Amino acid sequence: MLTIVMYHYVRDMPNTPWPAIRGLLTHDFEGQLDYIGRHYTVISLDQLLAATYDDGPPLPGNACLLTFDDGLRDHHDVVLPRLLDRGMSGAFFPIADAVENGVVMIVHRVHHILASGVEMGALFHELLELIDAWRDAYELPSTADLLAACIPGAVRYDDARTIQFKRLLQQALPRQAAWAIAGELFRRHVSADEAGFAEELYLSIDQLRTMASLGMGIGGHGVRHDWMEHLSRHGQREKMLRSREFLSRIHGAMPEAWLMNYPYGSYDARTVALAREIPGCRLAVTTRPGLIADFSKPYELPRLDTNDLPRQGDAPPCAWTLAVREAMERGGETSREVA
Ligand SMILES: [Zn+2]
Repeated sequence: MLTIVMYHYVRDMPNTPWPAIRGLLTHDFEGQLDYIGRHYTVISLDQLLAATYDDGPPLPGNACLLTFDDGLRDHHDVVLPRLLDRGMSGAFFPIADAVENGVVMIVHRVHHILASGVEMGALFHELLELIDAWRDAYELPSTADLLAACIPGAVRYDDARTIQFKRLLQQALPRQAAWAIAGELFRRHVSADEAGFAEELYLSIDQLRTMASLGMGIGGHGVRHDWMEHLSRHGQREKMLRSREFLSRIHGAMPEAWLMNYPYGSYDARTVALAREIPGCRLAVTTRPGLIADFSKPYELPRLDTNDLPRQGDAPPCAWTLAVREAMERGGETSREVA
């Protein structure tokens, strides 16, 4: 049995300029690593990839892979030293344009706009005003149609208005308009210096090289954190190929075997078929909650969110206890990023 755990922000939020960002506190991360160390054998990404070959070494019992999405600076400053202290490895998933071109992704623009302290009602009003103002320029559907596409369903972390705000920007609006509108709200409420902000928020390519040299795994997480399901077949293929190219710039050569992490956990049947054809792409992970018994679906591996596992204590692994079972029954969206 393999358990894959998913992390995003790991930091002491109250001591940062963005206390309202929702992440895992350093102390809780440490508690969880100790818990995982007691109950699982943490494996490296290389070990996992090697186990996918017929003649590869099998995984140890109760194997656990720790995955860190989005290439956040936290992963170098907070996560790396704590993994090294415990002799553990992790798998990290930077986004190409965030690292190389100083672009703050829509998902992170939205997180920081929401954490800016502006009241949700006011933010939502501004968003609808921008949609109205730019409707003609971007040929946008009516506001009623856009909102109809964002009706909150079963999600685990947000109130209804916040969900609509996120969904409008992350999914429902045409991408060009979403980048422009999220950019305008980001400039108003977060920072006028996007590149400078990106440098603070994301790992640099040098930090990624250092992490790789210290035994950490690096995998693909897209170029601009796009929803795979919303792309054409050609677009999906290009994102995966460019993810692979980005890995080659970190490692100095194309990876022989690598793992794709679908942004937002978004994929469809086309993605699975394409991933098989991309050179070296051996596995892919989603954000669907669950555990892995075998590699029969190598391009749809489920993960648990950090919130599904204890952060302290010594009770045996509760992966199949209530929280996860409930999440699986609700289906789909486990990640705060997705919700
Ligand atoms: Zn992501």
